[in-house]
Amino acid sequence: MITDSAISKSQQLIDLEDRYGAHNYHPLPVVLEKGRGVHVWDVEGKVYYDFLSAYSAVNQGHCHPLIIDALKKQAEKLTLTSRAFYNSALGEFEKYVCEYFGYDKVLVMNTGVEAVETAMKLARRWAYKVKGVAENKAVLIFAEGNFHGRTIAAISASNDPSSFAGFGPHLDGIVRIPYNDPVALAQALKDTNVAGFIVEPIQGEAGVNVPDEGYIAKCAALCKDANVLFIADEVQTGLARTGKMLCCDYDEVRPDIVILGKALSGGVLPVSAVLADDEIMLTIKPGEHGSTYGGNPLACKVAISALQVIKDENLAHNAFFLGKYFRQELEKIKSQLIKQIRGKGLLNAIVLNTDDEDFGWNICLRLSEKGLLAKPTHHYIIRLAPPLVITKVQIDECLVIIKEVLEEFAA
Ligand code: PLP
Repeated sequence: MITDSAISKSQQLIDLEDRYGAHNYHPLPVVLEKGRGVHVWDVEGKVYYDFLSAYSAVNQGHCHPLIIDALKKQAEKLTLTSRAFYNSALGEFEKYVCEYFGYDKVLVMNTGVEAVETAMKLARRWAYKVKGVAENKAVLIFAEGNFHGRTIAAISASNDPSSFAGFGPHLDGIVRIPYNDPVALAQALKDTNVAGFIVEPIQGEAGVNVPDEGYIAKCAALCKDANVLFIADEVQTGLARTGKMLCCDYDEVRPDIVILGKALSGGVLPVSAVLADDEIMLTIKPGEHGSTYGGNPLACKVAISALQVIKDENLAHNAFFLGKYFRQELEKIKSQLIKQIRGKGLLNAIVLNTDDEDFGWNICLRLSEKGLLAKPTHHYIIRLAPPLVITKVQIDECLVIIKEVLEEFAA
């Protein structure tokens, strides 16, 4: 008989989640209990490089001392008031984030998908109130391969069956066009009921799908000509991840609406935000949208600190240069297993040459045994996105691990 003590602590905790938690995720069999900077530790004390960064929420590194300090200070003072009252931190954060990104107004929510929903509502409302689209006729354009989260609205925009299948009926007023195809956008914009085009500057979940240079600029220009809002979902690409503060900065595009989440709190608690100018933002009136926790003082103080860290530690600069170096070094690995290396800044992926459904998973398992955590997206793409505080020495150590694992599998 196997006794509890014969089963590892990790396995016991995995079994516990499996028994009592919904089976809506398929994690790697690693149970983490501590994080600091680029490292995480499992319950057995093994240390890993984190090359997922909680899907780019931990750009500033795990448990950044300044962000944790902001959290602790505010947690002892006031955490939540709801928006039934004013609180002493919200205005400060709103001013800070608007000045940081150069917009008139911000609407603060919690998760990324809530911010996406907020942008969808804003675009529809703007279409009715400003553009003059007839009631209930507004159309939103999305790109194929998108990932905007898991609510009914977000999955209605998705063409990935693992997101939308079996959850219908889906939302009306959504049109999908191929990604990286400005001609398709121009065609779709002929519909005068279009309110907005919502797009990821790089499709993260689709496997770090980097569009052609100038795609975002072309899309923004087409939208402007058609009197349609250009809306950038920068939940994953924003906040220095791709080597600029926003990925749209590469194209010198200022979106009409910017959607932020994830690293807006440095991985400390859910904070998301939508930025826009008055003409758009003020179309939503009191009582028409919100969230109990949205704009809570704890989130506000944490978010100010998280944004300040990105600036003070030059994380965009670090991501830009180390990302370039990382891709260059990955390109040097000569292996028939590698189909493509792609990415921008420190949002990168190895596309594997395989039809084997388990291949990406098996590589990630081996990487984890060697002390590097990554997760396959689809079965043949491995995203590599460490916290942006990583150093060149650490990148070099990780390159050795990646190279060794790829060589093992090629043998
Ligand atoms: N938008 C993008 C581009 C994302 O990558 C994600 C999550 O991965 C979301 C939205 C949803 O964010 P959340 O999981 O915080 O709801």
